[in-house]
Order: sequence, then structure tokens, then C-alpha cells
Amino acid sequence: MKNVLLLGATGSIGTQVLDVIRTNAEYCLKAFSFGNNIEKAKKIIEEFKPTMVCASHSYDIDTLEEEYPDIEYVIGDIGLQTLVSYDVENPVVINALVGAVGLMPTAVAIDNGRDVILANKEALVIGGEIIMQKAQEKHVKIIPIDSEHSGLFQLLEGKNKEDINKLIITASGGAFRDKTKEELATVTKEEALNHPNWQMGDKITIDCATMMNKGFELIEAHYLFDLDIDKIEPILHRESIVHAMVEFKDGSVFAQMATSDMHLPIQYALEYPHHLKNDLIQKLDLTKVGNLHFEELSYERYPLVKVAKDALKAGGLQCTILNAANEAAVKLFLEEKISFVEIEKIIINALKNPKYQGFNEGAVNLMKIMTLHEMVYNDLYYQYS
Ligand code: NDP
Ligand code: MG
Repeated sequence: MKNVLLLGATGSIGTQVLDVIRTNAEYCLKAFSFGNNIEKAKKIIEEFKPTMVCASHSYDIDTLEEEYPDIEYVIGDIGLQTLVSYDVENPVVINALVGAVGLMPTAVAIDNGRDVILANKEALVIGGEIIMQKAQEKHVKIIPIDSEHSGLFQLLEGKNKEDINKLIITASGGAFRDKTKEELATVTKEEALNHPNWQMGDKITIDCATMMNKGFELIEAHYLFDLDIDKIEPILHRESIVHAMVEFKDGSVFAQMATSDMHLPIQYALEYPHHLKNDLIQKLDLTKVGNLHFEELSYERYPLVKVAKDALKAGGLQCTILNAANEAAVKLFLEEKISFVEIEKIIINALKNPKYQGFNEGAVNLMKIMTLHEMVYNDLYYQYS
């Protein structure tokens, strides 16, 4: 029996993790966390009967304690850390949180010698160096759920790193791939949330429309696979069938293909290195797909991809500023306080703001990252609210 400790169970990835767990009697959901969605949390409790639950708000714990008194409750950011440290046999930690809040519990899980199945890409964007160093020291694995990175993880299994010429990750182009830059001035929140290929949480769907997501994914791949970011290439591929490719030095290119269904990377992460049959996952029929298209990704059309690469190359805490500014800007856009095109401007200005540059001096640590994150996020959120 594998005991799953799931952060972010009420979200898009969390829900699909539960789908996979349901199909395999080997897995038991021992503990989970949620943010605001108490109704969904109650349904999860009734179906899976976990023994520990983490909520973001104490008033939700008061409500749950009355209905389910036998569960152990933990709260907030510290609660997330307690949850990943929960003393159970064969623990499987899955981080499906969104945003910087996912960093500390990831670090704590690794410190406890636990492998982490990671959907929460923001943890790697802001803390990739520390996370991967800790993982190496503790001999634990970080297994990605992000589809492109799962693809690379599968492709690189058993291969020699020295033989790689480059990694390629694909981008569907998001909701506005057929619009010019000028046309973006008037787009709405509803349009931005209408992703052509994937059903995901709101934040990542907006990140796909701005292409910040692909910038984050380059950083994520850089840390996961320990490769220079210039050797990781994003290309446009509107069908989202090929998720990733590896080009070896002899010119041979391997591609990972599958339907756009996150159940597959989730199950692979759980069953690594096995590829088990699961009827949940829709099979790929290339004769039905017909054609696959690939195009160069223009940094002029999608400047945030280049901004992300530059932030990584600049080092220090530039990626923390990048991520915090993006989290604030996306929230402001979802609350209809700023326009779509302002997201990009806010991020670019934050990266240049002298107020934050002092943080780039000296060594990087988790506390410094989270302090800067809070500062940038709060400054920007309240400035535009
Ligand atoms: P969702 O917004 O759907 O879910 C996020 C989860 O985190 C929810 O359970 C939410 O709780 C919880 N949460 C949010 N904020 C907090 C907080 N401050 N404290 C505690 N819990 C919190 O996100 P997704 O599932 O779409 O994405 C999760 C991660 O996976 C992201 O990093 C994303 O980039 C990545 N990813 C997602 C993909 C997808 O298909 N969705 C694909 C590839 C990567 P509640 O809902 O109860 O408020
Ligand atoms: Mg992805």
C-alpha cells in the first residue's frame, strides 16, 4: 500500500490525481490539503477517509471538526509542512499547489528524505537551485507532472546526459495564439480563460495565454535536467500531441506523444518507471489527428519567454521577482483590475525596480526567497487594487 499525501487536492491537478488513485487499489489517500474549496474538501473526506487534513483557514477547520472529529487537522503554510512530514508507511508526496506557497513544503519533504511528485512549477522557478541541491544531498527524486517535463523525464530514462544536443518543449500557444500583439489590447478575462487544448486551473491558463508558462517551463527544465537554458528550446505546436523532444548529438530526435490528458503524466509519476494501462487515459490515434504542425516561437510576439530566460541568466533572486510579479499581475487580471497587456508591463517593470535589487546580493536561501516574494506580491497587488 502507498500512502498519498496530496497538497492541493481540490485543484485541477489534485482532482486528476484523485481520479488516478481511484483506479488503483494500491493507493490510499492518507492526507490532503485545500485552500478555499471546503465543499470539495468535504466530498474528498467522505470518499477517501483521510486521517489528516490541512486547510488554509481556521474557520474551515472549525466547520470540519464538527462534522469529522476523528481527523487530525493542521493549518496554513506550517500545516502544509506538517502534512508532507506525516509519519506514515510508504509515503508518496504529491505537490499540486499553485504558486510560491508550494516551495517550503517541497523543501521540507526533501529534507525528510521523501521523493516529491511535483506539479507546482513555481517552486522550481523560485527555488530550483536549492531544491535540486537538497534532492541530490538527500538522494531523493523530483518527478515532474508538467506534461512537457514528464515527456522529457520519460525520454531521458536510461540515456546519457553527455549525448544530448538539446531538449525541445512544445507550446500550444494558449488562448490568443491566433491574435496579433495589437489585438491583445482589448481581450477579456473570459477569452483568456478559454484554452484551446487543456482544461486547467485559472492561473496556469492565464500563464499560457501570456506564455509566461513556457518561460517558467524553460526554467523548470533547466533545473530538473541540469542543462544550460540555451539548450532548451520552446517551439509552437498547436495540436499538443508532441509534448517534448530530445535531440541527441548524432541528430536522432526522440519525441514523447500522447493525447492532452494530465492523467498520463500523473500516473507515470506515481508508477515510474512503469507505463501501466489505465482506461482513464484516452489513447492517441495519429490517423485521426492527421497533421502535426511546428513553428518557431517568436520572442517578439511572446516577450515573457525571453524575460524568463534573462531572469534565470541574471541569477540572484530575479526569478523570485519574476514569479511574484506574475502571481500578483495574474490575480489582478482575474479580478479585472488590470488589462491583459498590463500583465507583461508589470512583470518587466518589477524586474527593473531598484527596491528589490538589494536582495540579489549575498547567498540565496529559502527565507530570503519567501520574504522577497511577499514584498513584491503585496507591493504590486495593493498598488493596482
Ligand atoms: P488550481 O488552481 O486548479 O489548484 C490549486 C490548488 O492549490 C487548489 O487545491 C487550491 O485550493 C490550492 N491552493 C491555492 N492557493 C493556496 C494557498 N495559498 N495555500 C494553500 N493551498 C492553496 O491549480 P492547477 O491544479 O491548475 O495547478 C497546480 C500546479 O500544477 C500549478 O503550479 C500549475 O502550474 C501546474 N500545472 C497544472 C496543469 C494543469 O493541467 N492544471 C498542467 C501542468 C502544470 P482551493 O481550490 O481549495 O482554493
Ligand atoms: Mg506544461
